[in-house]
Amino acid sequence: MTEHEQREIASLIHHRLAEVDAAEHAAELTRARIERSPGDHPDQADAAFHREAARAASTRRAARAARLRSALHRMDRPDFGRCCVCGDAIPVGRLRADPGARRCPACLAPES
Ligand SMILES: [Zn+2]
Repeated sequence: MTEHEQREIASLIHHRLAEVDAAEHAAELTRARIERSPGDHPDQADAAFHREAARAASTRRAARAARLRSALHRMDRPDFGRCCVCGDAIPVGRLRADPGARRCPACLAPES
């Protein structure tokens, strides 16, 4: 990976972290609005369903942010962009699509 590509991936990570933060902020505003006016959601079961879905989405966003931050920290190491299984270079296109990727396509299996 060239230095230019590494800077590009770092920039992508920062951009995606900002997106996750913005989505979380928007979700918090929605949550606060619903709590202020529960009358907008007279159906209790419906409200509970939406609360649970919002909580699940928030958990997914937190996991995504943690994965991105972890990738950002790994960027300082010489093995960044290398597959954690076989050590081969991960194609830059794969890192652009998923900067948190730690495996090359050949070793790709469900990542935690
Ligand atoms: Zn590999």
